Amino acid sequence: MRIILLGAPGAGKGTQADSIKAKYPVAHISTGDMLRSNIKEGTELGRNAEVYMDAGKLVPDDVIIAMMERRLMEDDAKEGFMLDGFPRTIAQAKALDEILDKMKLKLDAVVDLVIEDDAVVGRLTSRRVCRQCGEIYNTVMKPSSKEGVCDKCGGDVVQRDDDKEDVIRKRLSVFHEQTAPLIDYYGKQGILVPVDATGEKDAVLKVLEQKKANA
Ligand code: ADP
Ligand code: ZN
Repeated sequence: MRIILLGAPGAGKGTQADSIKAKYPVAHISTGDMLRSNIKEGTELGRNAEVYMDAGKLVPDDVIIAMMERRLMEDDAKEGFMLDGFPRTIAQAKALDEILDKMKLKLDAVVDLVIEDDAVVGRLTSRRVCRQCGEIYNTVMKPSSKEGVCDKCGGDVVQRDDDKEDVIRKRLSVFHEQTAPLIDYYGKQGILVPVDATGEKDAVLKVLEQKKANA
């Protein structure tokens, strides 16, 4: 299975990805995670990307496209993949179509996680993440047992720099300008599947299973 998870920042792409991964043999490819791990390792790519990310802007297309082309060639992606955070612009979507054409592969579905901006702001300002293992917490819904300390690994639980309200608003406006046009792009390809992002945790999984049953 090859799918794309589309949706505003904070729509819950990561959470949905986890439940899909548990059921299907797909490589979970998250551009945000790849970029953050490059920053952590101090690579040149990471150093270039960090400025954009902290400002809530998109990392330039050529950088992302080159990174993804390499990633999609890796062995684990042969079984299938789930793209989380990519593509985010029409240029990236076109580049992805070309990469897949070259590999003679087709997308099965583009899941659009639908959510209102105000719901996103509420979600993201309360999000916390473990600096060490990446575990996600929420100050309202899922706090760590001890404030600031990860239940899983004891690492520091912090707020991402780009989860501050002004940066979130900026990311939302970037989403509406640059990423929302993809809804139309994939709608025209006939592979768009809208899912309410404020519903159940397994909403996407259920829709995919239904789709499979009807295929
Ligand atoms: P979210 O989905 O919550 O916005 P991500 O972890 O997917 O967060 O991305 C964090 C940041 O990484 C983005 O705001 C952007 O700066 C950068 N980024 C991630 N994916 C892409 C992409 N496909 N194109 C450009 N920039 C990206
Ligand atoms: Zn941890």
